[in-house]
Amino acid sequence: MAKYGWFPDDYVSSTYDIDFHRLYEEGYRGLIFDVDNTLVPHNAPADQQAKDLFSYLNHLGYFFMFVSNNKEPRVRDFCRDVGGFGYVYLAGKPSPKGYVEAMERMGTNRENTLFIGDQILTDIWGANRAGVRNIMVRPVKKWHEEIQIILKRLLEAVILGAYGLYKKAGGAVRKAPLKEEGASLK
Ligand SMILES: [Mg+2]
Repeated sequence: MAKYGWFPDDYVSSTYDIDFHRLYEEGYRGLIFDVDNTLVPHNAPADQQAKDLFSYLNHLGYFFMFVSNNKEPRVRDFCRDVGGFGYVYLAGKPSPKGYVEAMERMGTNRENTLFIGDQILTDIWGANRAGVRNIMVRPVKKWHEEIQIILKRLLEAVILGAYGLYKKAGGAVRKAPLKEEGASLK
């Protein structure tokens, strides 16, 4: 069964649950992140949890970049605060352009780059179009969003329902490794 362009490779509850150490061992070297609601609430600055995650990813040896549809000051400040390699702002996701630019700048490719984001119609669709493995996460703060995002969430709920049926029917999913319950960053 072919995977539909709106279906994520996997869907997990939080970016902070993903076992990035395991993924590094599997050969991944580049990480592309959406920012708003993937790492912190919409327009919120980097918090300690985000800073800890990125210093850990840096320590593991990853390159990481942020590809966001938000404006430059927001994405630039977030990237600076967590020590990111770079960012693409007003990326126009689901266009694949920002993903391709990020991979070019990190010197990584479709095989060793992973994308993490919270929205199907921008993040996941764009990653699939760029041919990048992706993990969808539950939004950090769901109901404090602008109205157009809330409307998109309703459509996403329908797509996620279809995705659930697809998985039940044996559709292909690339399981993302998760940290063990309560495991610390090390
Ligand atoms: Mg987002």
